[in-house]
Amino acid sequence: MLSVISYFSDIKIKMSWPVESVRLFTSPLEDICSILRKGLEKNFKEVSVSVEECPDLTKAPFNLPAAGLAGSTRIADVGGPPYLVPFADLSKNYDFNELAKLIDLPDSFIVGAGGGPHEIVGMNSEMMPNLRTGTNADNNSKVSKLSGDGHELVSLAKDQACCSLMVNLFACEGAPGKVLKVRARQRIGEENFVSCIRKAITEGFPNKVVGLGGIFRMLSGAAKCHIMPNFSKIALNNDEEVSNWLKYFEMAAPMIFFSVMVSSDPGLDLRLEHSHGYGAEYGGHYHYDVTPDTVEYEAYYNLAEVLYRVDKPQNTHNIGKN
Ligand SMILES: [Zn+2]
Repeated sequence: MLSVISYFSDIKIKMSWPVESVRLFTSPLEDICSILRKGLEKNFKEVSVSVEECPDLTKAPFNLPAAGLAGSTRIADVGGPPYLVPFADLSKNYDFNELAKLIDLPDSFIVGAGGGPHEIVGMNSEMMPNLRTGTNADNNSKVSKLSGDGHELVSLAKDQACCSLMVNLFACEGAPGKVLKVRARQRIGEENFVSCIRKAITEGFPNKVVGLGGIFRMLSGAAKCHIMPNFSKIALNNDEEVSNWLKYFEMAAPMIFFSVMVSSDPGLDLRLEHSHGYGAEYGGHYHYDVTPDTVEYEAYYNLAEVLYRVDKPQNTHNIGKN
């Protein structure tokens, strides 16, 4: 089912996007610590994982619009790469206030990774959603777009709480509460930080669907990130063509990333991990760090209780999910 736009007089009414949901497997955060530690220690020289009270995220260095990552936690996978390749579907524009209602939490604190709202930005871009919807709406989201030979980081206004094509998000009440705190330093393996955590969860909870979302900071080192250029006029038919189309940059710490992952796909055409972040004047889609000796990460994640699949593509493929 596709979104339907109907017209009544001059009022444009957009019917809701189709939604499916599944309850995720959860366990006490303490039980996850040893699983994450085991996975991360194969990949990083120094690792610590603990259950801690979430630091006040409204304060520096986070400066987010809510204090914590707790309360009615959920993740959502909205749209997807089939709306980007082989050709972009420019009708796929999502309003975060509407998405928050669709995931049964109208007053949400949302972080995540997705496509910037091309109708507002004027072109394709990477979005770092970081906002509140509903009663106390506030928008600290940023987009990163190509500009000349370089790129530009742009802040979105309160009335620009939208994204396009796809977004993976973690939503909650933004309440203080316990979170998983992960620190990892000096990479000795081949996995990136996020894949390492995700694969540890998959191994630790076989045959279960576990969802995690939150934030991580790259405290030192640099990461390889991509920024999507404007929509391709030439069909992008495979991962190699997508990779050649994307623009890659090395971005230096300190950076903050918003990160969403799920341990396995219960048949909902999910993207298993997606992280976007920004530094002082740049931002993009996280691939991996390029400074194994000096890289250091600090993360705060919480488990999601429910997974929502919104506007799942009908004609799908697995291109562009890296
Ligand atoms: Zn991305």
